[in-house]
Amino acid sequence: MTPLFEVAVIGAGISGLGTAITLREAGITDFVVLEKADSVGGVWRDNTYPGCAVDIPSIAYSYSFAPHDDWSRKFAPQPEILSYLRETADRFGVGEHLRLGVEVFEASWDEPQRCWVLDTSDGEIRARSLVAAAGPWHEPSLPDIDGLDSFPGPVFHTSRWDHEVDLTGQRVAIVGTGASAIQVVPSIAEQVAELHVLQRTPQWVVPKMEPSPSRLARRLGVHRLRWVHEFNRRREELILELTNIAFNHRWGQAAFKWVGRQNIHAAIDDPALRTALTPEWSVGCKRLLMSSDYYPALARPNVSVVSTGLSAVRGNTLIGEDNSKTDVDVVIMATGFKILDMPIAGRVRGSDGRSLSEHWDGSPQAYLGTTVPGFPNLYIIFGPNVSAVASGFLIVESQLQQVVQALAHLRRSGAVSLEVRPHVMRQFNNDVQAALQSTVYNSGGCRSYYFDKNGRNGFSWPWSARRLRRMTARFDPTDYIVT
Ligand SMILES: Cc1cc2nc3c(=O)[nH]c(=O)nc-3n(C[C@H](O)[C@H](O)[C@H](O)COP(=O)(O)OP(=O)(O)OC[C@H]3O[C@@H](n4cnc5c(N)ncnc54)[C@H](O)[C@@H]3O)c2cc1C
Repeated sequence: MTPLFEVAVIGAGISGLGTAITLREAGITDFVVLEKADSVGGVWRDNTYPGCAVDIPSIAYSYSFAPHDDWSRKFAPQPEILSYLRETADRFGVGEHLRLGVEVFEASWDEPQRCWVLDTSDGEIRARSLVAAAGPWHEPSLPDIDGLDSFPGPVFHTSRWDHEVDLTGQRVAIVGTGASAIQVVPSIAEQVAELHVLQRTPQWVVPKMEPSPSRLARRLGVHRLRWVHEFNRRREELILELTNIAFNHRWGQAAFKWVGRQNIHAAIDDPALRTALTPEWSVGCKRLLMSSDYYPALARPNVSVVSTGLSAVRGNTLIGEDNSKTDVDVVIMATGFKILDMPIAGRVRGSDGRSLSEHWDGSPQAYLGTTVPGFPNLYIIFGPNVSAVASGFLIVESQLQQVVQALAHLRRSGAVSLEVRPHVMRQFNNDVQAALQSTVYNSGGCRSYYFDKNGRNGFSWPWSARRLRRMTARFDPTDYIVT
């Protein structure tokens, strides 16, 4: 029989790497990290599109235990974040646990042995506990568009950017106006002959304030002082908390809408285009976007906004839902990711042999976004309803507090498995859903990817990030069936 690891981790993005480092710090070294790609980094390895950058200040979008002082910008570009992740993984000795190029096809709970059995591209691996850190922003969501397959030119998703395609002088369409699109548009607008932005729904976009640190402060290295760094990080976290409060407050809404409209008015003169770009729903109902160069790019003479979704493709012609026709040479799909129907859920099978997807039946639920009844010793990072208005790193580190305490409890008690009690998860989810009702996510008047196919918000955390940290810090063994 294959050897039994204490823990197996699926994925080596910020969640998988963070898990590995946290396990080591907790004295757990008998674990393996399985990553199907040939390098670490996850999202920040895959998304190499022009203009890709974080939209949470980098001082907060980094591990609290691995502060980095030398970001070139307040919102670091993708290559810098990827370097940071690689260097941090090396510095904390993750390499010895890492198996690159190993895909997990299926993970099944073996009831008699009380362990996870993983069917991988490198053979069978067994582990007592399993951390699914495979990322909800991993698998592109590609709408099924009639005729798109036979489009004669290149078609690619933003997260699978085809760097072989030279866009110079081409007629390009970008489908979607979400977080990736608003970064791509200004980055390629000057290079292409024509850029057609297919917008089904407009988004709220506020300016991306990026003050460069004063040269004197940099020379003196003030930002490297530990307490200055910590103060700056806390300040950014506080601003995010206040943003969350503002989303859900009448005056905060009014202020954000004013800023969003000013951002449009400063760049766009055409009243019809201004109207087309102004959302009718509340700010924060969908992810708030930040850019100071998106609207100026839309105002360029070679850029047009086509206010419709893509309905069909005939040869080089894109046909909109409003029957409009646009001829292009290249199609870029900025259509987001399979977030709530995350692919890893179809590959993890619990004690009754059903997969997480089957178990959830379209509506993902977990206790603190992490543990699920019927799936002993399974911990999901970025599971359902943990997405607070906060840095992804804060969310990962919060969840890892639960994971490490659960693993420590197993060790201390000599037990072999922990499984959250169904009523604990049910009560938690009832509270989450009740609290969500009055939030801007549920009542802001938009249709967002936060909602699953059954119309339930399985994405958002309804409270503050502070509360997420506090609730995940508390581990109560009585919440679990301990075997
Ligand atoms: C373009 C973009 C910009 C973003 N910007 C922000 C931002 O500004 N702020 C913010 O807070 N969040 C942002 N996010 C969200 C971001 O995804 C998270 O913050 C975080 O990067 C997720 O990390 P992860 O490790 O959970 O997942 P990922 O980074 O997706 O990593 C998952 C890893 O698992 C591997 N994997 C998947 N399935 C398997 C399998 N079956 N077997 C083996 N390996 C597997 C994948 O190859 C991947 O390396 C952004 C997302 C995108 C796509």
